[in-house]
Amino acid sequence: MQTTEDFKSLAALWPADRVRELVSSRTADDVRAALAHSGSWSPASLAALLSPAAEEFSAEMQSLSSAWTRRRFGNTVQIFDPLYVSNYCMNGCRYCGFHAGAPGTARRALSLDEAEAEASFMASRGIRSILLLSGEDPSHSPPEYFCALARRIRPLFADISVEIYACTEEEYRALRAAGVDGMTMFQETYDPVAYKHYHPFGPKADYAGRLSAYERAGRAGMQTIGLGALLGITGWREEGFWLGLHAAWLRRRFWRTAVAFSFPRIRPAHGGEPPPFPVSDAHLVQLMCALRLSFPDSAMTVSTRERPGFRERLAEIAATKISAGAKTTPGGYTSDTAAEAQFETSDRRSVKEVSAALEARGLDPVMKDWDAAFSAPDAQVGR
Ligand code: SF4
Repeated sequence: MQTTEDFKSLAALWPADRVRELVSSRTADDVRAALAHSGSWSPASLAALLSPAAEEFSAEMQSLSSAWTRRRFGNTVQIFDPLYVSNYCMNGCRYCGFHAGAPGTARRALSLDEAEAEASFMASRGIRSILLLSGEDPSHSPPEYFCALARRIRPLFADISVEIYACTEEEYRALRAAGVDGMTMFQETYDPVAYKHYHPFGPKADYAGRLSAYERAGRAGMQTIGLGALLGITGWREEGFWLGLHAAWLRRRFWRTAVAFSFPRIRPAHGGEPPPFPVSDAHLVQLMCALRLSFPDSAMTVSTRERPGFRERLAEIAATKISAGAKTTPGGYTSDTAAEAQFETSDRRSVKEVSAALEARGLDPVMKDWDAAFSAPDAQVGR
């Protein structure tokens, strides 16, 4: 049976230079072969789909990606919203407005009552899928806090996920038992050299410790594990390849856990550095199509980092989860808080407006696409 060491070794076998060489050497014939075998994963096919040679096949990739998405997900697009409970953070991520060294950042951590009030407000707008987020400072929002919050709000939501610091296996098990269905955590970059530069201090500076958290979450029986690289801090083609490698490894190891992808492009943030490798719309579309054609069953999330119109287009092509009316400040749904936002959003439309825009394109926005009753926490534990 494979261990985390296997994935670390696997990732080490694919350093940036090797991935770049593989991707840049793909030809039009390689792309045609990958398109002919769409719906299945292989490193060679994914490299071809991510390559510069694939750019001239953009229309075909989009059409095929859309067909796979409709085949697996129908016309549905799940609406969810994030709930930021704290913007205290011990880390030094250079791109983020919450980082510990950000000058003059207004900090706030919600009490359980305040967080529950925010969640109730979100539920009153029809939201049934919620993502609990915090900066990485367990002294302000420890695992017990998220367990208690999950227990309180469980009756209001069909699914609850967390996007917090890397936890131990026991902590993930406790979260699962409290009613948390999934975890999302972005590795940010799989390139250890870039990772070191962008994460100079704090617990997150431990690249291997973060990378191994996904396995701990899988062992704890999380229903969904969400992966993502922060697009803009390194080359997107390499990150796309590593994401595929990681997803394939997790799926082999935890076959009952769904692996999902997010595609966060860096947004301006108070005190954050601008991205050295900005990703264009066309390249974001290529990345999403390449992963959709390799992993047709994986949910794909697009947040309010992206602008109206473009988000709907991404939902036509590949995205299956979309946030609406999201606030990125702790307390932002129920008050005019002065707390700092993690990043500026590009789409400020309400749930109703986003739903109407999706329907105008023939898509079917849904608030609830599954029921936790079908996946008791114990059913996933102990593999
Ligand atoms: S990205 Fe997350 S861990 Fe890094 S500074 Fe921002 S909130 Fe903290």
